[in-house]
Amino acid sequence: MGKKLLAFVLCAALACAALGIAACAPETPRSSYQMALEYTPETRTLAGEMTADIVGTGEDAQSSLTFQLWANAFREGAKYAPVTDLFAPAAYYNGESYGGITVHSVEGARSFCVTGEDENLLEVTLKEPLLPGERVQLTMSFTVLLAEVNHRLGAGERVVTLSGFYPALCAGEGRVYSALGDPFVAECADFEATLTLPEGYVAACTGEGERTLSDGKAVYHVRAEGVREIAFLCSEHFHTAQTEAAGVPVTYYYLDDPSPERTLLAAARALAYYSENFGQYAYGQYSVAEADFPYGGMEYPMLSLLAADLTEAEIPLVAAHETAHQWWYAAVGSDQFAEPWQDEALAEYSAALFLEAYPEYGRDYAECVASAEGAYRSFFSVFSQIADASQTSMRRPLTAFQSEYEYRSVIYDKGLILFDRLNGLLGREKMLAALREYYREYAGTIAPPEALIACFTRRGRSAEGVFSSFLEGTCVI
Ligand SMILES: [Zn+2]
Repeated sequence: MGKKLLAFVLCAALACAALGIAACAPETPRSSYQMALEYTPETRTLAGEMTADIVGTGEDAQSSLTFQLWANAFREGAKYAPVTDLFAPAAYYNGESYGGITVHSVEGARSFCVTGEDENLLEVTLKEPLLPGERVQLTMSFTVLLAEVNHRLGAGERVVTLSGFYPALCAGEGRVYSALGDPFVAECADFEATLTLPEGYVAACTGEGERTLSDGKAVYHVRAEGVREIAFLCSEHFHTAQTEAAGVPVTYYYLDDPSPERTLLAAARALAYYSENFGQYAYGQYSVAEADFPYGGMEYPMLSLLAADLTEAEIPLVAAHETAHQWWYAAVGSDQFAEPWQDEALAEYSAALFLEAYPEYGRDYAECVASAEGAYRSFFSVFSQIADASQTSMRRPLTAFQSEYEYRSVIYDKGLILFDRLNGLLGREKMLAALREYYREYAGTIAPPEALIACFTRRGRSAEGVFSSFLEGTCVI
């Protein structure tokens, strides 16, 4: 997710939500998804037919496969609701509204059932055990009802956001939704999708493809290879602006941004800057879209969302954070549910480096760090009076954070301070070398935290102590 100035409760705290995207290693056999989708605004429904060609990745034969049903977090009575009370008024712009997914059929399976702690999983029992490296084909039919919500999946005020709308194969164990952070964990796969929309709609999406008109409807046919998910942002109100960066087209889909060329330039510059410093951007194009969204921004493979309420000063920072997720989330994956610091802290540090290179955005590296230190110290002075001060460990799953404030402070602010301290220890050149190694070696995988830490400790043994004192919560800031 991205970064946005919040003027709520205790003090002004930086909040950020961003996603990153990068390409996945082609050597590993990947699962593939083919989808035929149609969205009907009048009923707020997305009808889907999906054929999933799944590769067995377990060490043993699998008798069943489990898929995430993220859409069910939006249903009435969900135990793990997608929005905290703090953001509910901004997200649910028309008051209470609910959605959910109904899976009608799964062909190619013995049986299927909706299960999990919060109707969050689809368990499919296979006809034959799936052996490692072998494939099984399942064809699912489903309908998603979108809530009227400005969120990652919903009929928003001006933009329909489609992400996490299809049954997505779990990477490891199934997860519940979390209103804090991004609970999604997925291996890379290949996607081919056809999305039919009313004629007046334009869609920004993961993948490359074309828009045609058929029977008075707009039809998008897109392909994306080696990505963790596929997402669409659809609107009747989008204008577009385009440029090129890192050798690929960059398109900005905007609503009423008064300076669209400036926003596009910031995103394009970030893409070029990271390509040069971390390693070449992994995909054939990059899109950025403006939408009503309470959390600043959000990352999807090949696509970033920027909230429509960002200020002129916030836009370069959020664009830089979200674009960094193309490297740290999309390309190099991590367990965002169990170790949310891993991609978010890197996105924060990457954005600070980018801003240092572009002083015209009015916030240099030192200011980013100083701001994070100030925010974190304010948080800590309050938090230490009401809770065990030792509980500032960064290695916690999303469900172990009590509030937006605690999550932002420990993951984003403390995360940036962690990488700044490493920067002070190793110097800029070694920092960039460590990040290039991490990208080169782990793109296309879900990298464990130890892999990231090792890239730094190879360049300075004392880096290990910095990581452990921050991650375990023993350091004093
Ligand atoms: Zn982020």
